[in-house]
Amino acid sequence: MYRSHTCGALRIENLGEKVKLSGWVQRVRNLGGMTFIDLRDRYGVSQLAFNDGWSEDLLDQARKLGREFVISIEGEVLERESKNPQMATGDIEIKVESLEVLNASKTPPFTIENDTDGGEELRMKYRYLDLRRDPVKNNIILRHKVAQAVRAFLNQEDFLEIETPYLIKSTPEGARDFVVPSRMNQGQFYALPQSPQTFKQLLMVSGYDRYYQIVRCFRDEDLRADRQPEFTQIDCEMAFVEQEDILTKFEGLVKHLLKEIKGVDIDSVPRMSYAEAMRRFGNDKPDIRFGMEFNELNALVQNKGFKVFDEAELVVAISVPGCADYSRKQLDALTNWVKRPQIGMNGLIYSKFNADGSYKSSVDKFFDADAQAEWHKAAGSNAGDLILILAGDANKTRKAMSELRLHMAEELGLRNPDEYAPLWVVDFPLLEWDEESGRYHAMHHPFTSPKPEDIPLLETEPGKVRANAYDMVLNGNEIGGGSIRIHDRSLQSKMFDLLGFTPEEAKAQFGFLMDAFEYGAPPHGGIAFGFDRLSALLGGSETIRDFIAFPKNNAGRDLMINSPAPVDQEQLTELGIDLRPEA
Ligand code: ASP
Repeated sequence: MYRSHTCGALRIENLGEKVKLSGWVQRVRNLGGMTFIDLRDRYGVSQLAFNDGWSEDLLDQARKLGREFVISIEGEVLERESKNPQMATGDIEIKVESLEVLNASKTPPFTIENDTDGGEELRMKYRYLDLRRDPVKNNIILRHKVAQAVRAFLNQEDFLEIETPYLIKSTPEGARDFVVPSRMNQGQFYALPQSPQTFKQLLMVSGYDRYYQIVRCFRDEDLRADRQPEFTQIDCEMAFVEQEDILTKFEGLVKHLLKEIKGVDIDSVPRMSYAEAMRRFGNDKPDIRFGMEFNELNALVQNKGFKVFDEAELVVAISVPGCADYSRKQLDALTNWVKRPQIGMNGLIYSKFNADGSYKSSVDKFFDADAQAEWHKAAGSNAGDLILILAGDANKTRKAMSELRLHMAEELGLRNPDEYAPLWVVDFPLLEWDEESGRYHAMHHPFTSPKPEDIPLLETEPGKVRANAYDMVLNGNEIGGGSIRIHDRSLQSKMFDLLGFTPEEAKAQFGFLMDAFEYGAPPHGGIAFGFDRLSALLGGSETIRDFIAFPKNNAGRDLMINSPAPVDQEQLTELGIDLRPEA
C-alpha cells in the first residue's frame, strides 16, 4: 500500500492518526533545528516535518531529497505550530517516522510552482511537468467536470453517445483535410474528419433520433492564434425537430453548464438575427455584456464638406461612457491603435460631450456644436461621454469598429470574466460569395437547410437566402453552431449544384448521403459546441491551449514528442509513396 490518504486530505480532525502519504517533493526547507518538506500530489500539498532531535538516518535521507523526487512516508498527524490558513491542510503537519524514495528526479527545467520561471516553449517541451502545476491541473480538472456535466444533461434527455469513424474520406468542402495513406489500398487515402457531420445525419436516417459525441475533429488550417489542428467538439443531432426545438434544448444545456460549473443562473437566452448583430455590433458574435452599440451617422454627417465622411461608404460611431475627459495622449494612442495593420484604418475621429455641456471634436472646423450635439443624441450619449467615429469601406469599417468596441470595453473593465451572457445568433445567410473562386460557398456547410420561405430566392437572388442556421455566442465568442438540415434528395442536389458541384462530383462525394435520403430520412438538425473553447471560457480564460492536456503550438507542432516528423523511406515504400527525387 502506497498511501492511506492523499496529500490534500488531512485536517485537524485527523490529529494523532498514523498515515502513509506518497507524492512529489515540492520544496525542502531547512530551518534551524527543523526540516520541512512540502509533499504534493494531484489533490493538494501536505507539510512533512523532521525534527533535528530525530534519527540521524532519517534526517540524512530528508536532506538528500531534491525537487520532484517521488517519495512515500509514514508518520503521525500533528497540529502545526504556525498554521497556514491559505492551505486546506494548513492546520496540520506530518511528523515523519519513515521515508522511502520511490524514484529520484533530475532538477526540473523550470519550477513547478503556480508562478513558474519556465517560458512557453520549455513548458510545452516538458508538458508532463507543466501538468503538475496547479493552474494547468485545475484547468484539466475543470475540463473533466464540463465533460461530465455535458454527459449528465444529454443522457438525461435521452441522447445516445455513439462513436463515428476517424478514418473517413476526403472532401473538398470546408477546410483542408489531414490525409492518411492506406497501405492495403495503395495510392488511396483516408481523411481524418473535420466533424462527424454526415455520419450524424446518417444516424438520424437510422432512427437514433438523439445523438451526441464528445469527439475529436481535425482541420488542416493555417493556425491563427489559439487554434489547434485537432480539437474537440460536443457534437449533437436530433430528428423530428425544428429550429425552435434545437434552440430550446441546447440553451438548456448551456444553462445547465453555467449552473453546474459556475453556479450562475441564466433566465433566458436572447436571440438576435445575423443582420441585426451586424448592424448593432458589426460582428456575428457580439459581446452583449456592455453597450456601445453602433450608430450609423451617414445621413447626419455627409455632404457637409468634410471629405473623409463624404467619400466613405459607412460612417459609424460608438459612444464610450464617461470618457469625455480623455487626454490628447489617450486619444492619440487610440488613433494609433486603429492605424495598426491588424485594424488598418486611416484615422479616428472623436467628439467629446463635456460634463459642462460643451462639445469638442477633432473635426470642429467642419462641424459646430449643434452638429455634434446631433451625433451624440443619435448615439444616446450623456454629458461626459466620448464618441469615436470611423469612416470608410463598409465591411472594413464595421470590422474595425467592432474591434475598437471590444478594445474600449477591455480598457474600461467592462468584459467581466465572471459575467456570462449567452446569445443565439440566428438567420445566417445560406451562402456567401467568394471573390477568389467567383462562386458561392455554403456559409455553414452544404447540408444546411434554407428557410422554406426563402427557397424561391435560390433561383433569383441566392445571396439573399437565409438559412435555418444558428450560433451560440458566449461573451463575444462563438461557442457552438449548427443548423436544420436538408433531408430531401432533390433539394440537396440543387444545393450542390448552386455550390458549383457537377452532378458527378456531388454523387462521387456525397452520393451515400443523397442515397440515404431516399430511404426515409426524417427531418433533422443539430449543433456542435467547441469543447476546448467552452472549457476555457468556463475557466475564465480565452486560451484553449491551457485546457488541453497535450496541445500543439502555433506552428501545429507537438514540442514534447517532436511531431510532425519524417518517416523512413521503408515505411513510405510500404505505403506506395516515394519522396526520393527521381534517380
Ligand atoms: N458539423 C458542424 C460544424 O462542425 C456543426 C453542425 O452543423 O452540427 O461546424
